[in-house]
Amino acid sequence: MDPFEAALEAIVGAQGLLRGADAAPHCVDWRGLYRGHARAVVRPASTAEVARVVALCREHGVPIVPQGGNTGLVGGATPSPAGDSMILLTGRMNRIREIDAANGTLTAEAGAPLAVVREAAAESGLMFPLSIGSEGSAQIGGVLAANAGGSGTARYGNARDLALGLEVVLPDGRVWNGLRKLRKDNSGYCLRHLMMGAEGTLGIITAAVLRLVPAPRSVATAFCSVSSTAAGVALLSTLRTAMGGDLHTFEYMSRRGLGLVLRHIPGTRLPVAPADHHILVEFAAATADGARPALEEALSAAYEEGLVTDAVLADSETARAGFWRLREAFAEAQVRHGPHVKCDIAVPISAASRFLDTVGPTCARAFPGCSVVLLSHLGDGNIHCNVHAPEGWAEGDFSPLREEIAGRVDALAVECGGTFSAEHGIGAAKLGEMARFKDPVELELMRTLRRALDPDGLMNPGKLIPA
Ligand SMILES: Cc1cc2nc3c(=O)[nH]c(=O)nc-3n(C[C@H](O)[C@H](O)[C@H](O)COP(=O)(O)OP(=O)(O)OC[C@H]3O[C@@H](n4cnc5c(N)ncnc54)[C@H](O)[C@@H]3O)c2cc1C
Repeated sequence: MDPFEAALEAIVGAQGLLRGADAAPHCVDWRGLYRGHARAVVRPASTAEVARVVALCREHGVPIVPQGGNTGLVGGATPSPAGDSMILLTGRMNRIREIDAANGTLTAEAGAPLAVVREAAAESGLMFPLSIGSEGSAQIGGVLAANAGGSGTARYGNARDLALGLEVVLPDGRVWNGLRKLRKDNSGYCLRHLMMGAEGTLGIITAAVLRLVPAPRSVATAFCSVSSTAAGVALLSTLRTAMGGDLHTFEYMSRRGLGLVLRHIPGTRLPVAPADHHILVEFAAATADGARPALEEALSAAYEEGLVTDAVLADSETARAGFWRLREAFAEAQVRHGPHVKCDIAVPISAASRFLDTVGPTCARAFPGCSVVLLSHLGDGNIHCNVHAPEGWAEGDFSPLREEIAGRVDALAVECGGTFSAEHGIGAAKLGEMARFKDPVELELMRTLRRALDPDGLMNPGKLIPA
């Protein structure tokens, strides 16, 4: 055993080091798109152990790649192929340390899976509102480091809006205890916001104080057709005016995307007549019988105005699950359909219609035979724009086009006043876009901060900030 590994084992014990077949899955991302090698894979059991491991890495000049559930979509948690770095897994630090119901907060360790946090909050009669498809595996540390979004963002914000305090092991091994449970604290720079969305480049999040909200007492869900993207955006405004904070979900789905779901996913069925543009709406109300009548009334008014051409309200939990299945099956249907490039952009809601209407024709002109699938958390302006290879193409034919296609879509988003990364982050996947589109002053500020906190550049090198 080399001296570094021996020193690691002295800190975390034999069960805190993974080797061989146990270590291998951590060197590749879950889609198999990013592969690397690691000098060691370590699983500390406490913040104190993380601090000692980080200090040891600094002493030996070993780069650290933090990894939570490894469900990220941009290769941020995968080590480089050089094999010189150490993966630090947070999964053994998975306790819910405290639920303070009166304060509406829950303190969880970084390795607690998001689903476990949501269950713990529900058991105390409250709700942790962040919900994503990967919540069974994604861990709180990873969710905060990636600043995950999801379908409730329109109402509750991203992960960063839901954390009041953090505990972080800094790149020099010191522990910053910022586990405050405060909604007001004007005592200087908001350091936790630096750490969230930093993708492990400024430190390792070891615990967090999360904000809980009252659980809604009634939920109503509708599947709608709208005649145009502009009508979809107008419907969003109308429902917001009618429902205020009770509008929980507003998801846009294109005809082409739903067509793929119906074709490839057995048991799916469209509850309305096919149209070019569909919306999944959900209201969540504080009263036991408030949501459904309010949604019915708001949708009837929208129908009268001509914004909605058809709508069906879920009359049972099974019907609701069926609506959501259509939305959630997009990813699976697209994988079954064939090679495609995933772009995760956001634009101001006022520019969403322009982007949605323009991106398909733009891609069709530039890349003949390609088709575009659009799925949007329209309530917050986030659009997943996935460009499919022409029918019958294999991955090998398509991969030379990937970068150019993503660049075209990202450029259009930026032209519309938007961003090339809405909720998935930068990781290793979008370094080119950072160099191309990020404001140079902003990029330089990011580099300055990174150098100040991590002068040796050991925290997740090769991620987030282009060289
Ligand atoms: C089916 C599916 C659905 C998804 N849906 C969504 C969605 O709706 N919205 C969305 O935003 N994302 C979504 N994702 C992406 C992913 O689940 C999220 O980005 C999630 O937040 C990552 O959590 P994780 O624990 O798996 O982090 P990882 O993938 O392990 O890591 C993500 C990044 O954070 C860093 N990191 C991990 N833990 C720490 C820590 N403790 N301290 C510092 N840095 C750390 C890693 O180095 C890496 O850069 C989805 C993924 C899948 C597979």
